[in-house]
Amino acid sequence: MNSYAPPIQRLVTELSKLPGIGNRTAQRLAFHILRATDADAGALADAIREVKERIGLCEVCFNLAEGPRCRTCEDDRRDPALICVVEEPSDVIPIERMHEFRGRYHVLGGALSPIDGVDADDLRIEELYLRVQAPGSLVREVVLATNPTTTGEATALHIAEGLRERAPAVAVTRLASGLPVGSDLEYADEVTLGRAFAGRRPL
Ligand SMILES: [Zn+2]
Repeated sequence: MNSYAPPIQRLVTELSKLPGIGNRTAQRLAFHILRATDADAGALADAIREVKERIGLCEVCFNLAEGPRCRTCEDDRRDPALICVVEEPSDVIPIERMHEFRGRYHVLGGALSPIDGVDADDLRIEELYLRVQAPGSLVREVVLATNPTTTGEATALHIAEGLRERAPAVAVTRLASGLPVGSDLEYADEVTLGRAFAGRRPL
C-alpha cells in the first residue's frame, strides 16, 4: 500500500527518474528535501528551473551554452584550425581541465549504436561536415575524441571516412591508446588524457 501524500509521491517519482537513483534513494532524498528549510528546497527548485531556462546548445559546436554560442566558440584565442569531436558536453570538461587543448569542439550528442537505434542522422555528424567544408573554413585537423568503447570507435571510423571523402586536405586524428578501454572520457584523469592528446595519430 502506498501511504504517501500525492505531493510526496510525485517528488519520489521525479527523483527516481534521475540516473543511478533507485526508489529507496529517491525516498531518502525526498525526505531530506522535506526536512530542509524553505530557502534550501527553493534554491534547489530554482537551480533546476534556471538551468533549463538559460542553458541551451551552442549553434556552432552543440556544446552547452548560455546564449546562442558557447564560451569556446566566442573566444577568439581558441585555434579555429583544430576541432576536437566528443560524444557529450560532459566530455568537454576533462579536456578543458587538462589545459593543453586550445582548439574548438564539436559535440555529437552520442555515439553510433544501431542496436539502440542511434544512426548517423541522430548525431550532429552532418553539422560537423558542413563546418569543416564551410567557405573560408580554417579547419586543418579534426581530433576524434569519442570514447574508447565499441560505439565510440565505430563513430570515430565512420566520421574519419566521411571526412576523407569530403575534405581530404583535413587531417583526421584519433586520441592515442592509453585511455582505459571501455570507459568514458569523462572519467579519464588529466595526465592520461594529456598523453592521449599529445600522442594522437592519423586515422
Ligand atoms: Zn560552441
